Formats: sequence, C-alpha cells, structure tokens
Amino acid sequence: MSSPVESRRRISGASAGTLLERRAHALGSAYRLFYDRPVHLVRGEGVWLYDAQGGAYLDAYNNVPVVGHCHPRVVEALSGQAAILNTHTRYLHESILDYAENLLATYPAELNRVMLTGSGSESNDLALRLARHYTGAEGIIVTRHAYHGNTSVTAEISPALGPSYRRPPHVRLVDAPDTYRGHGDVAARFVQDVDEAIKDMAAHGIRPAALLVDTVFSSDGLFTDPAGFLAPAIELVQRAGALFIADEVQGGFGRCGTDMWGFQRHGVMPDLATMGKPMGNGHPMAGLVARSEIIDAFGRDCRYFNTFAGNPVSCVVGMAVLDVIRDENLMQRALQTGDALRVSLREMMARYPRMGDVRGAGLFTALELVEPGDERKPDGKLAHLIVNDMREHGVLIGSAGPGGNVLKVRPPLVFSEDDARLLCEALEASMGRCV
Ligand code: PMP
Repeated sequence: MSSPVESRRRISGASAGTLLERRAHALGSAYRLFYDRPVHLVRGEGVWLYDAQGGAYLDAYNNVPVVGHCHPRVVEALSGQAAILNTHTRYLHESILDYAENLLATYPAELNRVMLTGSGSESNDLALRLARHYTGAEGIIVTRHAYHGNTSVTAEISPALGPSYRRPPHVRLVDAPDTYRGHGDVAARFVQDVDEAIKDMAAHGIRPAALLVDTVFSSDGLFTDPAGFLAPAIELVQRAGALFIADEVQGGFGRCGTDMWGFQRHGVMPDLATMGKPMGNGHPMAGLVARSEIIDAFGRDCRYFNTFAGNPVSCVVGMAVLDVIRDENLMQRALQTGDALRVSLREMMARYPRMGDVRGAGLFTALELVEPGDERKPDGKLAHLIVNDMREHGVLIGSAGPGGNVLKVRPPLVFSEDDARLLCEALEASMGRCV
C-alpha cells in the first residue's frame, strides 16, 4: 500500500534535463540545487509543494513561507497594493508606518526604531555599519560555522561558505554552544570563548564592535537549549563596549514557539536585531530594529535610502504576515507541533542508534546522524542518503552543521501534528531503507 504522502503524487522524470542545461548556460556554476534529482516545483499551498508532473511534496524544510505557501491573505495584500501604488520611502505613505509600528510592538520597548532592507545579508551588513559607527570599533565575533550573508562584508563573517573562507584580521571565531559534543556548562564555555576572543583582539590592537550570532545557531547545527545560555556572553560583550547583534533571520517570527524572537528565549537584550527570510512570506523584504541612539548617531552623519526596501507593497505584505501569525495562533501551534514531533523522533532514536541526538525549539528541529559506535562521529553520508530518499518519497527536508550530518526540519509554521506524523512515517521508512 502506498503511504499517504505517496498517494498524493505521481512520480515522473520530465523535462529536468532541459532545465539543468539552460541553468548551466544562463546562470553558470555558482548556483547549487537541492537533491541528487532536483525538484521542479510549479505550485505551492500551505505545507504542500507540487512539481511539474503534479507530484506533491510535504514541505518540512522551508521557513520563508512562514504562514504557508501562497497564503491567501498575503497574496491578497500583495496584489491589492500592487494594483494601486508602489513607490519608495522618499514619499509619504501610511503603509511603512503601520508596518514599522506593528513590528516594533513585537519587540521589547528598548528596541524602538526600524530600518528596512531587501535581504538578510543587507540587514546584517547595515547592522555592522551601525555598530561600527556607534562604537568606533572594528572587531566582530561570530561562531565557527556561522552564515550571515552574501555581501562582501557579511561573507567575511560567514565561515560556513566553505573552504575558500579566509578569516579577516578583525574577525574572531568562537565555538557554537554545542550541547551534544561539548562538555560541561555550555554557557560558561561560550562566555569563556568570547572573553578569549576579546583579549586576543586587544593583543592585536583591535577593539570589539559587535558579537553577532544567529540566535538559534542554525548553520552551526541548531542549538537552542538550555534557554538562557547566551546571557553571560552578552553581558560580557556589552560591558566591553561592543554591541550584541541578534541575527533573527532563522530564529525570528515565532519559529521557536515560546517567543516571537530567538533572543527572548535567552532573556537577553540585543542592541540590534536583524530579520529576513520569513518577513514577507517569500516576498523579498528584510530589516533591522535597534535602540534609537544607535540609529540617531548614524543618521546625524549619514543618509539612508534603499530603493526597494520599505515600499508600499512590501509593507502591506509584511503586515499581512504579522496578522496571520497572530490570528492563526501560529506560535502556539509551532510550540505544540514541534514538541510532539520531537517526542516521536526521540522514540525513534531507541530503534535507530544512528540517530545520535534530537534537539530544537518550536518548529525548528535538528536530528544528528552519527556513525556506528559511541564516538558521535558525524555521518554526513547517511544524512545525504536520507535527505534524498525522503525527497524521492515526497517529503522535503535538508541538512546542516559542519559535518553536514544534521537533518534540518524547519517547516512553515502552519505544519500540523498530522503533518508531523507523515514526516515521522517517511523518516522511519527512509531509515529502514538507508541504514
Ligand atoms: N543570516 C542567517 C542566519 C541566514 O540563515 C541567512 C540566509 N540563509 C542570512 C543571514 C542571509 O539572508 P539572505 O539570504 O536573505 O541574504
């Protein structure tokens, strides 16, 4: 009998070959595709994606469509405003103010100014400019396998980009707070590493401008617990005169279930928080929030204009996303579904010793695959097999972490407990086939 996922899809090869050739000719070799047999998607709805042959895929990977693919309220907001007016921030318009005020209302009162950009990379790039301008310092601390963007400056703080990464003299790398392979108290280890980074900068005549971390450490392999582990390091950094920049591109917009923003899980107060991916549910919009002194200091010396960022269409889209997260109670759903999913995955661990660890918060779950034995050696090959096998059976997940062995389950927040059951059935079947 075919599984519920399989019964929704018809499998066929189709014209992927032609598209691959056209991509190679038109786009060149820097782009990468997911999966050994790439997926050609033509339509999405909620947590489902459909390929050119009508095959359905349960989307357990994409965080950008946070309120579900093609949510009708987002589509309506976008198309309605696009039919009336789309300009930029050099004219007066209510939409940017409505959006900024509503977005700020989701943050602690100390973070009271918004600046809008077009991507997560631009947000981090701007945050670094603001931090350097405010502190007059240059040094930046990030984690060892961080990804913060694709501009020249953010690529310099993105060691996850691969072997070509060269750490610039003003950047220091610290280990992510790894609860699976690290020993002892992760908070104590993290603050010690940050302290050493600051001292090493001082020894080289560099003053620290910022500690910048993804608040869920997604490209490092996802570390969310114990809640609060960031607090001592943030206190140290701020005492040293540097700013804490919370990168909320992955952890934000309710993903962790308990709070709207990842830093809130740790009870800390950033000086700046950057956002992207889910902000427009797929419409390209991003931004940052900050304390007013930081923005004012910059604004006195420099003007800011970003052609597309903050246009009326983007702002009504962003507003629709915030409305749906609230009206459909998506944080609560993320919390419940994510907890239920991890309970099932932990039960599965008892049957599959190659599943070394299950961790996460809300609807962001990591499952570490390891080699046989007790050494917890990352098994990136097995992760590759599983990710591809699940794709062949209609479930989309990804992998992350320095060893590429961490299965990454990060669906739209409308993912239900039934969807989580489908995912677990598919994973169990894949483990049976691949291990
Ligand atoms: N920060 C983090 C934590 C990210 O995961 C990403 C994207 N993967 C970025 C920044 C960059 O965002 P964008 O691709 O929108 O530039």
